[in-house]
Amino acid sequence: MKIHEYQAKELFRRFDIPVPAGAVASDPETARQIARDMGVLPLVVKAQIHAGGRGKGGGVKVLRDLNEVRTAAAGMIGMNLITHQTGPDGKQVKKVLVEQALEIARELYLSIVPDRKSARHVVMVSRAGGMDIEQVAEKTPEQITKIYIDPLLGIQAFHCRQAAYGLDLPPAISQQFVPMLRSLYKLFVSYDCSLVEINPLVITTDGKILALDAKINFDDNALFRHKDILEYRDLNEEELLEIEASRYNLNYIKMDGNVGNMVNGAGLAMATMDIIKRAGAEPANFLDVGGGANAEMVENGLRIILSDKNVKAILINIFGGILRCDVLSNGVVQAAKNTGIEVPVVVRMEGTNIEEGRKILTESGLGLIFAADLKDAAEKIAKIVRKK
Ligand code: GDP
Ligand code: MN
Repeated sequence: MKIHEYQAKELFRRFDIPVPAGAVASDPETARQIARDMGVLPLVVKAQIHAGGRGKGGGVKVLRDLNEVRTAAAGMIGMNLITHQTGPDGKQVKKVLVEQALEIARELYLSIVPDRKSARHVVMVSRAGGMDIEQVAEKTPEQITKIYIDPLLGIQAFHCRQAAYGLDLPPAISQQFVPMLRSLYKLFVSYDCSLVEINPLVITTDGKILALDAKINFDDNALFRHKDILEYRDLNEEELLEIEASRYNLNYIKMDGNVGNMVNGAGLAMATMDIIKRAGAEPANFLDVGGGANAEMVENGLRIILSDKNVKAILINIFGGILRCDVLSNGVVQAAKNTGIEVPVVVRMEGTNIEEGRKILTESGLGLIFAADLKDAAEKIAKIVRKK
């Protein structure tokens, strides 16, 4: 789960990680009042969306006048902000963060992520802050220092020294940085984060180090033990179809391709996506209907796939084990009746009650395309979407 910058900064404050003074507003008048009550200028107004790159997209504005704060907030709230991280559709801005603007001497980068390969936490620091870190990693990887931390031992003084050295911090700044890094690590571990990122971490002209930006992602599977974080959830930011799928206990992830697919079992679903790509087409989603699916879940799954306007054809790949082929087939027929399937559907089905399942589908008059095996199914579907 992702949260907003202003929420991440609330958490930072709780862990004594220094952030600029500020507050969040949902309308321009409140933004102006916050600015007036803060009694400082210049100020910065920042659009709150679950995506970075706002600076370049017009979602971060430094202002020298109270009325400008109002105008900037009015311009941002309700605006559809497009950045390189939002995708082409952009995200609607509902809130802005009003903060004291800082005089920046240096912009740095700091993050912590779990590293699966080494089974450690990795602290990443770079002197090249404020930029797109993916680009830094690609073009000048030597500018990123990685410090691996054994989660059993936790963060030690030498890790902090390595990080401070990597950032080339003078002693006075280093003294502020070390407790900050320790707190960030503590936050990362105690909240089961999958990412904490400060980009930029800034050194001000008056010699302070602060988190100018804040990004935190949480491991969804650990959220049950962090009820306070669940309150930060913003459904406006989540994919509508994914929210609907979670209501029906379907594991659905939307993607950018045009081949919708419905599979039972996560492993088979991943293999299906691989083989779709291998045949030269792009999957529109990941959908695991689960082993214990019934006709209704199959129908809900198909309806969700069909709500994605990019879908040009559907591949159903079911290995009938617990989910029997006749149950699946009834679900498909039911869905076709209730929602109307207007795109070609290729079916690859094997397993329990296969004969019965095929009979139901053939007699349905739906004009489904049967595939002999998975490879055949992928080739057939790729051929269909290529023609479109
Ligand atoms: P992002 O583009 O979505 O990652 O948003 P950030 O919070 O990282 O802000 C983008 C950029 O705006 C920063 O790298 C800074 O250069 C600039 N910026 C943000 N806040 C301030 C501020 O208080 N003072 C100054 N001078 N620049 C700021
Ligand atoms: Mn940033």
